[in-house]
Order: sequence, then structure tokens, then C-alpha cells
Amino acid sequence: MGTRNAVTFLTAIAALAAFVGCAQPVRQLTTQQKEYLAMFEEDVITTDAGDLKITFVGHGTLMFAFGGKTIHVDPVSAEGDYSKMPKGDLILVTHEHGDHLDPAAIDAVRKDGTTVVAAAKCAPRLPDAIVMKNGDTRTVDGLKIEAVPAYNVVHERSPGQPFHPRGVGNGYIIAFGDKRVYIAGDTENIPEMKALKNIDVAFLPMNLPYTMTPEMVADAARAFRPAILYPYHFGETDTSQLVRLLADETDIDVRIRDMK
Ligand SMILES: [Zn+2]
Repeated sequence: MGTRNAVTFLTAIAALAAFVGCAQPVRQLTTQQKEYLAMFEEDVITTDAGDLKITFVGHGTLMFAFGGKTIHVDPVSAEGDYSKMPKGDLILVTHEHGDHLDPAAIDAVRKDGTTVVAAAKCAPRLPDAIVMKNGDTRTVDGLKIEAVPAYNVVHERSPGQPFHPRGVGNGYIIAFGDKRVYIAGDTENIPEMKALKNIDVAFLPMNLPYTMTPEMVADAARAFRPAILYPYHFGETDTSQLVRLLADETDIDVRIRDMK
């Protein structure tokens, strides 16, 4: 190939890359952000509207990248340095407990146009949040979000006082293209969870005494059958127990990531 042909060829490649780039917005990260994010595990889920990247920040804290946008879930400073994280287009907060709601972390990833969605009990500390209650559905930044119940039935702080009372906290189901991702929040294997349909990716909490035992997570998974199941918010719980309990469920892909 002569020099001119080579230049023409490279120009064509660049034009094609720009075209593909338009169809599929790419998130721009700084070198510092890329270096910082390299310390976390990341999975990529294929959807009909492009890749969904999941960053496993830790405990109940996640970050998603999709369609050029960044979505933070329960960002807390105990799990990550949010001054080094990409700004959020959307921030979701499940409930008001300190390992889920941290206004300082949220402030660190705010920018003009950030939408914060939270349960009502978070609102006094997040004055600009859009409040969603169990059962609400909204579309934010082109993403359909459903708020679903998250509560304890069995595990109580004291008699009659569940760690997470019904109607307070939210789980969220987000539609990323054709894939529905369920982030359960702090909850047990409640009937509303077991009745969910068409969940492609599920994050289910598994630490005691606050949320579920491996048996409760397995029971829920057998009921609503997510294609991919990530136990998260699992503290010291032995995740191999869940893997063993679901070993015969070959169409539920149990994935263990660093979400202690
Ligand atoms: Zn929690």
C-alpha cells in the first residue's frame, strides 16, 4: 500500500470509528479516573442498545456505565473515593442507612444535570432528590426505573422492629436496552421479590442479621429466576454456600464479586 493509499485507508477507519462513536456514545474518562477504577472488578453485559458496564465498588455500592452515561447506586465514601470517580448522570439511593446514603459521596459526583432518585426517608438529607416510593415508575435520562419494595419479615432489631420496615426502602429495576437489572437494596426474600418477572441481572443482599441468609437468597432466585445473580452486601457470609445451594440451577449464573 502506497503512502497516499495508507492515509486514505486510515481516514476511512477514523470516519467509521467516528460514525460508530455517534451511534454508541462513549463515556469520556480522565486518566486519573481510569487508573482509579482499575482497582475495582468490572463485568460487561451485552444489551440490544450497547454494552452495560458494571463496576463492583463494594458492599451495597455499584456503578453502571451505559450509553455514555454514568449511574451510581448507593455511593458511599467508605467503599470508594468519589473525588476520583466519574460524575453521575443518575444517582440512585435505596434507603437512609449510613452504608447506603452518604450525601458527601453524592456531592462529590454531582454535576450540572445530575438526577438523584431516592426513597422518601432520604429526602431531608437530599433536598433536590426525586422521591420514588414502592411501586413508582419513572423514566430518567431515557432509562426506565421502577422502585420496588425492600423490607424485612424475619430479621428484627428488636421484637416488632424490623431492620428495614416495609414501605421505607426501595429496590430498583432499571431497563438498560433489553436487559432488566434489579438492585434489591436491603431486603429479604419477600413475596414481591419472588413475583418479579423477566429479570436478567439481580443483585441480592446476603448479610446477617440485616438482610438474607444464603438459603433465603437461593429461595428467591429459584422463584424469580434471574439469568445472572450477584450476591452483594454480603459482609462475612460465606458466598460458597449460595453457589452450592444453586448448583443444580444451571440457568442461573451465580457470580461472586468483591461485594463484601
Ligand atoms: Zn445495608
